[in-house]
Amino acid sequence: MEIGVSLERALEIANQLKIDSYSETVPLSEASGRVLSSDIASKVHDPRFDNSAMDGWAVREADCQEMGTALRIVGTSQAGSEELPKVGPGEACSIMTGAPIPEGADAIVIVEDSMVEDSMVTINGPARPGYIRKRGENLLEGSVVLKSGTLLNPSSVSLAATMGHAEIPTVVPFRIAVIGVGDELYPPGQDLPKAGIYESNTFGIEALVRKMGGSPQRQDLIPDSIEKLRDALDDAANSCDAIITSGGVSMGKWDIVREIMEKEGDIRFWRVLMRPGGPPLFGTWRGKPIFGLPGNPVSAHVVFTVLVAPWLVNSMGSEDESGPRLANRVRVVMQDSLRGAPGKICLRRISIRQDGDVLVGTTNTHQGSGNIHSMVSHNGLSLLPPGEDCDKGDTIDALWLC
Ligand code: AMP
Ligand code: MG
Repeated sequence: MEIGVSLERALEIANQLKIDSYSETVPLSEASGRVLSSDIASKVHDPRFDNSAMDGWAVREADCQEMGTALRIVGTSQAGSEELPKVGPGEACSIMTGAPIPEGADAIVIVEDSMVEDSMVTINGPARPGYIRKRGENLLEGSVVLKSGTLLNPSSVSLAATMGHAEIPTVVPFRIAVIGVGDELYPPGQDLPKAGIYESNTFGIEALVRKMGGSPQRQDLIPDSIEKLRDALDDAANSCDAIITSGGVSMGKWDIVREIMEKEGDIRFWRVLMRPGGPPLFGTWRGKPIFGLPGNPVSAHVVFTVLVAPWLVNSMGSEDESGPRLANRVRVVMQDSLRGAPGKICLRRISIRQDGDVLVGTTNTHQGSGNIHSMVSHNGLSLLPPGEDCDKGDTIDALWLC
């Protein structure tokens, strides 16, 4: 077990332990938001045949050197046309966007540059070869343009359809158990005893897992009881691919997640040099990866964002840029000062917005790690290196939450 590791080291250790991933083929209409589990190649050229980019006339460029030339109309090519006239010297074929280029034509005159009279068309503008979309200019049959590990967005689903795939192989969403631990926790909606609080983390973590393309399995809340926690972790290890707990990982007497993991589990790291979110642990329980997130709500969200989310991406076989993510790394000019943390990367809540050519950051509420409102009233996190404060006007690295 390593204790007190940097965020980078924590991720390195976690990434040594992937969730086993499986593939399932899903219809294209259900694929958006999933992650591709193998490379897929195009079954066709795109475009499949030379076609027109504009409504107008398919002509021979050489015939249209002088404005006012009249050409004989030989027919029409519309999208889906199978039978096409040939275009000979002095001839033009009416053509629609996406329609095949008739044999003999090598350029398009747009409809706005033409005038029809009886069976002749007068050309009043340039004939442009560039308005012909060439067979295979976007994609060649057999080329792999969607790579394993890619998060499928609406455009990639359209691209898969263009390539001729009705269904595609995707990563089966990871089943992730989400367990809240603490005697004081009660589900929202119930009457609270004097020392009770509404439990919130499992709802947030559940939503974060879903945002990352996983299948969250929120379990009943567990009181501070080693026996009940053991049963819950065993159930979770049997039914899920990985486990996330929240609470009970610090140094307190009742920090039973840490205690049970020390005695009966396998801890790979404990404590990360970050603020907020210092106490997380990672390891295995009965062979299944387990993240013990802190109980403080902001800490739980922040640790999920910077540690659990990239680890899930790695398990899915995605690159950082191509897989699901919760934030984008940006440079921000701060309009407020921020206090860093000695020896720890500091993720203060900031609001990021565009101001002219730059992104600017401000901070507006109390930053306590128990204040989940601060995650709602801000949309970003600073990435202040260990021991570095930020003055007003400084440019810093930050995460812009999606
Ligand atoms: P712990 O890590 O168990 O010491 O908890 C730290 C703080 O987070 C305490 O104030 C807890 O009451 C609070 N907390 C722990 N778990 C949750 C949860 N699931 N939802 C909301 N607050 C929590
Ligand atoms: Mg607790």
